[in-house]
Amino acid sequence: LTLSAATGDNCASASPNIVVVGWSCMDMISYVPALPAAGETLAGSRFSLGYGGKGANQAVQAAKLGSRVAMVTKVGDDLHGNSTIRNFEAHGVAISHVSRGPPGVSHGVAPITVDQSSGENSIVIVLGAGGLLSPEDVRKAQPAFAEAGRPPGGVLLAQLEVPLETTLEALSLARAADLTTVLNTAPAPSQGLPDALWPLVDIVVANEPELAALAAAPTATNADVEAAAAVLLARGARSVLVTLGPRGCALFNASEAPVFVSAPRVVAPRDTTGAGDAFLGAFAHHLSSGAAIKTALRRANECAAASVEREGTQSSYESAASLAA
Ligand code: AMP
Repeated sequence: LTLSAATGDNCASASPNIVVVGWSCMDMISYVPALPAAGETLAGSRFSLGYGGKGANQAVQAAKLGSRVAMVTKVGDDLHGNSTIRNFEAHGVAISHVSRGPPGVSHGVAPITVDQSSGENSIVIVLGAGGLLSPEDVRKAQPAFAEAGRPPGGVLLAQLEVPLETTLEALSLARAADLTTVLNTAPAPSQGLPDALWPLVDIVVANEPELAALAAAPTATNADVEAAAAVLLARGARSVLVTLGPRGCALFNASEAPVFVSAPRVVAPRDTTGAGDAFLGAFAHHLSSGAAIKTALRRANECAAASVEREGTQSSYESAASLAA
């Protein structure tokens, strides 16, 4: 399979307005009657394979809504790496800056076991090739940053699934190219983040557990959330956007009153996997399309809530066509 320019419906060959730097993987989900004990072999009832990785999910959500997205990731030189590239192409995500890991290093995988009776799960994550995405790989993608930074200016989406120095390089390059930098602090880092990172971030996007971990503060009430967000603002982030599950989201910055935007009510949530990524992808799409911030937040809530109503991750994401229908 060659890494040629993509030819999807969303004009992936045109200049991108969103650059995503992050991990891509395969989710391998087995549904079982009980989680297996060490040494035990269990018959599962069902298996599903899905495309994942927060970066990949966010890229696909933005592209499904019609954004021109350039993905910067590393895939395995194997079956799953190949199908991940085809999946990007199918969604019109540009793959010129998708590189291959060395032979013998697998594509990133996330084997997941779900206990059907309790909903409990156990997850193994093997970063594989995506864990080797380097600052040098990001620098090679500089042309995508430069194109996305042309007026009226685009958005960088970064997360914490790839090495921290890679994310830092992405934020620096994006800042230099005049992109709006959006850092999704997922998964919550076990150690704090370096001081140098915060001033490079225009919008930090954290869910409640991530915010609590980063600020080392409670997030039980709206007042708690505001105080915890203030901790990150004091470190130098320009604004902090907190996702609040069924309650929607809240945006904080140093100079304006907080903005709380509620999510549409989902009567029967089916699968919240990837809802945060739907939120990020949709938010970046609307932001880079020039929407007012409150509109972007409302639409991001709508897309994320829609994804909660359906099973699956990327397959549950709203598209421009599904919205029109
Ligand atoms: P979270 O990562 O749980 O904060 O969720 C991310 C976003 O998904 C939220 O900001 C909401 O927009 C949406 N969301 C998550 N869970 C629900 C739910 N049960 N009902 C409606 N929207 C939801």
